[in-house]
Amino acid sequence: TKDQFGWQFDNSYVRLPEVFYAHVLPEEAPEPKLIAFNPHLAKMLGLDAEALTSAEGIEVLAGNHIPQSAEPIAQAYTGHQFGNFTMLGDGRAVLLGEQLTPDGRRVDIQYKGSGPTPFSRGGDGRAGLGPMMREFIMSEAMQGLGIPTTRSLAVVVTGSLVYREETLEGAVLTRVASSHIRVGTFQYAAARQVVEDLRTLADYTIERHYPDLALMSDKYVALLDSVIERQAFLIAKWQLNGFIHGVMNTDNMAISGETIDYGPCAFMDTYDPATVFSSIDRQARYAYGNQPGIAEWNLARLAETLMPLFDDDKDKAVQIAQQSLSTFRELFHNHWLAGMRAKLGIFDEEASDGKLVKDLLQLMKVNKADYTNTFRALTLDQLDSLPMSNTQEFVEWKISWDARRTRQNKSEAEVQAFMKRHNPNIIPRNHRVEEALVAAVKGDMTVAGNLLDVLKNPYAYSPDQEDYVEPADPEIPYNTYCGT
Ligand code: AMP
Ligand code: MG
Ligand code: MG
Repeated sequence: TKDQFGWQFDNSYVRLPEVFYAHVLPEEAPEPKLIAFNPHLAKMLGLDAEALTSAEGIEVLAGNHIPQSAEPIAQAYTGHQFGNFTMLGDGRAVLLGEQLTPDGRRVDIQYKGSGPTPFSRGGDGRAGLGPMMREFIMSEAMQGLGIPTTRSLAVVVTGSLVYREETLEGAVLTRVASSHIRVGTFQYAAARQVVEDLRTLADYTIERHYPDLALMSDKYVALLDSVIERQAFLIAKWQLNGFIHGVMNTDNMAISGETIDYGPCAFMDTYDPATVFSSIDRQARYAYGNQPGIAEWNLARLAETLMPLFDDDKDKAVQIAQQSLSTFRELFHNHWLAGMRAKLGIFDEEASDGKLVKDLLQLMKVNKADYTNTFRALTLDQLDSLPMSNTQEFVEWKISWDARRTRQNKSEAEVQAFMKRHNPNIIPRNHRVEEALVAAVKGDMTVAGNLLDVLKNPYAYSPDQEDYVEPADPEIPYNTYCGT
């Protein structure tokens, strides 16, 4: 039964062996204030928005009052961080439990920034208001773009301070995810070398995310195949939208196929596969163009963990894992090319489509074209705005593209409508996000509110979005700071 706020937790994760988590309570927030709230998401979760934004509700969102049906834990996991394997775990997050939604889904409700846990490794367990608002804006923008993602229900400031290079106001984000099971969770289970625990985690994951596989004789291979398929789809979406995650460590890759952990992420402005935003990514490991390869590398780490469940014969298990992994590139490429066809208003398939896309990207790179706005200009037939509009190469490309679109049985209006559905009019531009965060930290939420509003439907092509179209001056370098 629901409590006064609508919480109705059922906590399957705490029914796993105890090695997978630690019981923990959020630290007291001395003076909680509500900063951001997502009423639409609250409704989807079956929550009472009015009750949750009342003084009593804010105590819940700050971690001061734990709903009766919650069983707060920090989850254990390991991970490869920039290629190095380490013990991690929720160092500043607390999972309240799993909310059963009115439409029959089970989702994790997690506080982020709610104080230290047994996995904090000397960290303070806290988060700053700016970075938590950043996750709120970016995750909700991803949702608007139609990219699988964790969601953000609320941000409260705690009334405590957080000490980094500068002093920040402490904040707690309430994150909603279809689960927080990561590649790193499997790495943790495998590293302990207790096969029964690994099997329990795999069975749990199948039941929670891939229930159709439960009765298959090779269900663990099918699990790997399914995760590979979802990641191929997700990373294709990132590439198609110019999204750079920034920290694709194995602990930041969710088995559900949702984008998780918004640290130094950003959308690319000028098209260049070498684009990196994170200042801590000095070797450019997680550059835009590297993301598919890194995903494949992370999936190989997942495959290794599952091998004991594939076959007792090690060589056979390796073969099975390699067989599965070998599908990733093609799956990714197919999703990506299908998405690119849609972005160019192409409904059917021709063998030369790949070349048409490649030639355009090359022109964009050479001419330093804005990624999002190039596709926007193609959609709106505003080609004069493109830096390459007068080049011979582009004129030729345009002739091939026009010819390609003429070869399908679609009206111009149909083609444009299709393109508008696949080319966002706006994205969360870095300078716009930054401007919203600067205002939010000063106590003015209207800038973030307006930004969130226009990003709800980035495909609307509505007049109120005009102000959000322009990229920042490319001469001003942009670095997002890591999850402080
Ligand atoms: P991330 O880079 O955000 O994926 O975080 C990597 C690891 O560091 C995770 O185990 C986090 O829980 C942990 N972590 C990040 N910030 C803090 C903090 N302020 N206090 C304790 N642990 C943290
Ligand atoms: Mg993380
Ligand atoms: Mg983080």
